[in-house]
Amino acid sequence: MHRPVVVGKAFTLTMLHMGPVQVESAVLFETPEEMCRRVWRTLRPGRPVPEIRVDFCPFASARSCARLRDGCLHVRISDVFEGAPAPVLEALLYLLLAKLFRLPVPAPYRHRYRLYWNRRDVRQRLHRLRRERGRKALTQPEGQVYNLSEIFDALNAKYFHGRLRRPALGWSLRPSRRVLGHYDAAHDAIIISRLLDRPSTPRLLVEYVMFHEMLHLQFPDESHGTRRQVHPPAFRQAEKAFDGLEAARRLARAFGSAEPPALTEGHRR
Ligand SMILES: [Zn+2]
Repeated sequence: MHRPVVVGKAFTLTMLHMGPVQVESAVLFETPEEMCRRVWRTLRPGRPVPEIRVDFCPFASARSCARLRDGCLHVRISDVFEGAPAPVLEALLYLLLAKLFRLPVPAPYRHRYRLYWNRRDVRQRLHRLRRERGRKALTQPEGQVYNLSEIFDALNAKYFHGRLRRPALGWSLRPSRRVLGHYDAAHDAIIISRLLDRPSTPRLLVEYVMFHEMLHLQFPDESHGTRRQVHPPAFRQAEKAFDGLEAARRLARAFGSAEPPALTEGHRR
């Protein structure tokens, strides 16, 4: 039913992008189900292998999941991974099954998965899928208390010589205390938590969150191997220009986010 994993060309890609990777010969020519069975045996030695089904699903994100029910293991993988090199699929299956059984994931698999994940072409494909399939989760820029367009324009004039282009702006559909704002590159939108749109929220905090997200427009994140640097040094330096930075960070912390980096937890990883 499923296409066998193609590895001829993929294998070369593996060597190019991932450096020397130990690939068991068994990886070659396995179907996703066969691969999943092998991963199961490695993680659950001696346990009977259940019936296994692996589907590639047209999710709007890279989210994948594994579920064990009525003696059947059902793995649903985002079709972003369809056509991924076999060792990447293998790493993903290790991650999913280890999570299912609350087992630690061997570091090499985690590493291999992240390397693939941070590849520019993979991220671009994901952005495209999210644009096509995902719903943009934001409302109009005019809130009950604050108008995001107005705030954007004022900050643009003050800190960016008015040169920053304006993306879509809106309040999040769901109130989030943890993620105060994020820049959604797939939809080219700055989304601010609607919890901030209250008379009790100091304007300084809303401006700081907006300013931070505007810097993401100016400084796209950088990838270095497995590490994706969402706040490159130039970003950090530019952020210091914000008037009242320390006070704003204190407000952000008090609002319920732990540390300033918590502002970034909404970045799509
Ligand atoms: Zn950030």
